[in-house]
Amino acid sequence: MSKKLLLKDAHIEGIRYFETYRKQGGYTAAEKALKMTPDEILEEVKASGLRGRGGAGFPTGMKWSFLAKPEGVPRHLVVNADESEPGTFKDRYLMEFLPHLLIEGMLISSYCLGSNTSYIYIRGEYSWIPDILEEAIEEAKAAGFLGKNILGTGFDCEIYVQRGGGAYICGEETALLESLEGKRGNPRLKPPFPAVKGLWERPTVVNNVESIAAIVPIIDITGAEYAKIGVGRSTGTKLISACGNINKPGVYEIDMTITVEEFIYSDEYCGGIKDGKKLKACIPGGSSVPIVPANLLLRTVNGEPRYMNYESLADGGFATGTMMGSGGFIVLDEDQCIVDHTMTLARFYNHESCGQCTPCREGTGWMYKILKKIEKGEGKMEDIDLLWDIQRKIEGNTICPLGDAAAWPVAAAIRHFRDEFEWHVKNPELSQTQNYGLAHY
Ligand code: SF4
Repeated sequence: MSKKLLLKDAHIEGIRYFETYRKQGGYTAAEKALKMTPDEILEEVKASGLRGRGGAGFPTGMKWSFLAKPEGVPRHLVVNADESEPGTFKDRYLMEFLPHLLIEGMLISSYCLGSNTSYIYIRGEYSWIPDILEEAIEEAKAAGFLGKNILGTGFDCEIYVQRGGGAYICGEETALLESLEGKRGNPRLKPPFPAVKGLWERPTVVNNVESIAAIVPIIDITGAEYAKIGVGRSTGTKLISACGNINKPGVYEIDMTITVEEFIYSDEYCGGIKDGKKLKACIPGGSSVPIVPANLLLRTVNGEPRYMNYESLADGGFATGTMMGSGGFIVLDEDQCIVDHTMTLARFYNHESCGQCTPCREGTGWMYKILKKIEKGEGKMEDIDLLWDIQRKIEGNTICPLGDAAAWPVAAAIRHFRDEFEWHVKNPELSQTQNYGLAHY
């Protein structure tokens, strides 16, 4: 059984309220942190090996150490709660059921970074959660954990919740900052990075909800102890939101030492494939990461079991591996059609492209149109090569990672499931009425 650090109290009735959270030991990590210096906290975060839980997996301590500290210029912490990656809903769970864990993590992080005004930018569709967060903020304030002169330390901190407008692109950190400033959410060219010029051109750290929540157990048990959980550079625990054709969809906390097979088939987690079907493929890190067929998902290129951690999931690179990404674990059974699935994702990225750069603006639209053609049985063999060519021209040629996120699923689908694309081309009539999965199993 995986160790629980973030969700250990999630089952307790009323844990979303300050009184219950406090009774369970809530805010003791904050009390401890406020007696430390900001540099000491930073050292604990670095020692923990925590990697950003939003998708990129960049070391959080290193990110914090990049924060510029010019004299007299305010700094900000911004929590990225714009969780819009298809298949990902673990931050929603944290905010809905454990809002004080996030607020406590923000208090410690704000103190460490010197942010007196911090923000939570939350996905517009999570319409019921801002009220939960704002209530938690008010409770923390009433108890002296937010506001002026917190616990007599002289440190002031206010937290504000800002609702997004429902654009996926605002999950990209610079688009998020633009939106938070009241502008259209277009990603910025980098450099300068937010650590130097972020919100209102002030030094800013943007971190995912889960990353900031993880600061609480890191301070609680120390960074060194946190680093002992997990394996290699995949330290601590990770929240995984599991969905698709499984028996037990939901949010799970894992310690990154379990195998993918155990995660899918064990009753503790996904509980196996629905209706006893066969596993066909999986996208383990949210829709943007490469899809992997079952054989490569359960074993690495060396024939070792594949583990639920950053290194093992990526084993073999994009040719045979994938990424931990956001932890949005999407399982596809044998009945699913990869062409249909890839087309749905292509439509999504085309719709969500902000349109600033040509390869993304035009390329995502072309990919969607070609996939639609193939899926409807109107495609030609050369369309598959054209699709491959387009995704290659998008990857690495755009301002923000949305371009890559749109290209990778198409590349992986063609790489691993070319036979399905060809089946659609060769069977135009059948492909109008059936999908590949149903026709073959
Ligand atoms: Fe906008 Fe796409 Fe360019 Fe990102 S890659 S800036 S979403 S056009």
